[in-house]
Amino acid sequence: MRRVVIIGGGLAGLSCAVRLAGAGRRVTVLEATKRGGGRTRSYPDSSFGRALDNGQHLMMGCYRETLAFLRTLGTTAGVRFQQNLAIQMVKPGGRRVKLSCPALPAPMHLVTGLLTMRGIGVLHKASALRAGLVLSGEVRRPDDNETCDAWLTRMGQTPAIRNAFWEPLIWAVLNDDPLVCSAAMFMAVLERAFMGTRDDSRLGVPCVPLSELYVEAASDYVRARGGELRFGEAARAITSARGRAGEVVLKSGETIAADAVVTAVPPRALLDLLPDPLADDPVFQDVRRLKTSPIVNLWCEVDRSPLGGAEMIGLVSSPLHWLFDRSVIERASPRDPVLLNCTISGARGCVEDTPAALRQLLLSELERYFPQRPVTIRRFRVIKEKRATISHAAGTYQWRPDIRSPLLGLYLAGDWVRTGLPATIESAVQSGHQVAAAILEDATR
Ligand SMILES: Cc1cc2nc3c(=O)[nH]c(=O)nc-3n(C[C@H](O)[C@H](O)[C@H](O)COP(=O)(O)OP(=O)(O)OC[C@H]3O[C@@H](n4cnc5c(N)ncnc54)[C@H](O)[C@@H]3O)c2cc1C
Repeated sequence: MRRVVIIGGGLAGLSCAVRLAGAGRRVTVLEATKRGGGRTRSYPDSSFGRALDNGQHLMMGCYRETLAFLRTLGTTAGVRFQQNLAIQMVKPGGRRVKLSCPALPAPMHLVTGLLTMRGIGVLHKASALRAGLVLSGEVRRPDDNETCDAWLTRMGQTPAIRNAFWEPLIWAVLNDDPLVCSAAMFMAVLERAFMGTRDDSRLGVPCVPLSELYVEAASDYVRARGGELRFGEAARAITSARGRAGEVVLKSGETIAADAVVTAVPPRALLDLLPDPLADDPVFQDVRRLKTSPIVNLWCEVDRSPLGGAEMIGLVSSPLHWLFDRSVIERASPRDPVLLNCTISGARGCVEDTPAALRQLLLSELERYFPQRPVTIRRFRVIKEKRATISHAAGTYQWRPDIRSPLLGLYLAGDWVRTGLPATIESAVQSGHQVAAAILEDATR
């Protein structure tokens, strides 16, 4: 039995641990925080009297690695998927734009959905359709140096269809401004979501707290197979001996010998762990160049929901991107308080704002978009994730490292490594599974 030490108990580390423990490996997960889960976690919040997620997370039907992970954990029922892709947006004043894809094979479901979109003029639908028709060619020639904005211009997309469809999608999946982010990363998402089966494009919303969905179930799974999860125990350094990763040194001073070491931490944390000469390797010099992009989540308890029964709705041309009615998502009793989430992606413009300013912004945008349904906020909490994901600025994919590092026995996992995907749950879990497969493969050599 060989010991694998995994540093980081987010989804990348946990999915790797689950795969390895399932294959009979001895696994130790070191996680700096008391609860784990990383950027996909829940907090008990005393003023709301319930758990709140660090941010509303969505999945898509094309999240194949994540779905496999959830099946292994037995928690698939914790995510509710749409029957077919449907997206509702609202314009200032309350008019809705609705995309509703019918039960046709892909990509005809999207083509028909775009053609029959409600709340948007025929010229704009025609421009979206044109892009839809050439999409299969576009996804085969992704250009990481082209921005999404340049791609939309090249596709001749009108301002109205950009505002009501493309841009909200880009902010949501790439967590950055279409003006800077990479068209190739967007193509990677479009290919997986729209070029496979119809089910791939369905949205899935967790209806239980994120820690219950992922962290607790994964921890139980690993422990039941003899693995160890050490929460609240940060790694300080990785040593190398005879050209291989050797020991992991904890902040407490303890050292753990390992046959293989997996880092499943964000870029900065990885750089701090590396033995000296390795940090100068060109692979890690590139890692140093990666920047991050924030997400701000506003949680509030309100007297009534402005969404009119919808689970989620996007705001066209607003600094606030999406609203989620958690009471509808969780099928809460009408006697329970109404819980809303507002998600602001690529939130550079407001991440330094005070809670009072953000509350005021939310109130004024609710008034602007839902003038018929005035809302009173009873409880309010802001959760800022300043380094929510790496920035997918055009031209930066080349800096993301491979899962096999230049040091033998050291493997890199995390949503930001070279998975071919933007930094998402799926990218994190895919990286964890790929690292597990590489360790098992390398052990047979
Ligand atoms: C607010 C928000 C909303 C999001 N929404 C979506 C969404 O809707 N859909 C989607 O697909 N993705 C979404 N994401 C992205 C998704 O959450 C991440 O891609 C994913 O959680 C990353 O997992 P990870 O394991 O790679 O990294 P992390 O979750 O960052 O895990 C790294 C772990 O390493 C630990 N660590 C760091 N240093 C050390 C050390 N020295 N020793 C031990 N442990 C250490 C950290 O404490 C952390 O637990 C969102 C992210 C945020 C922040």
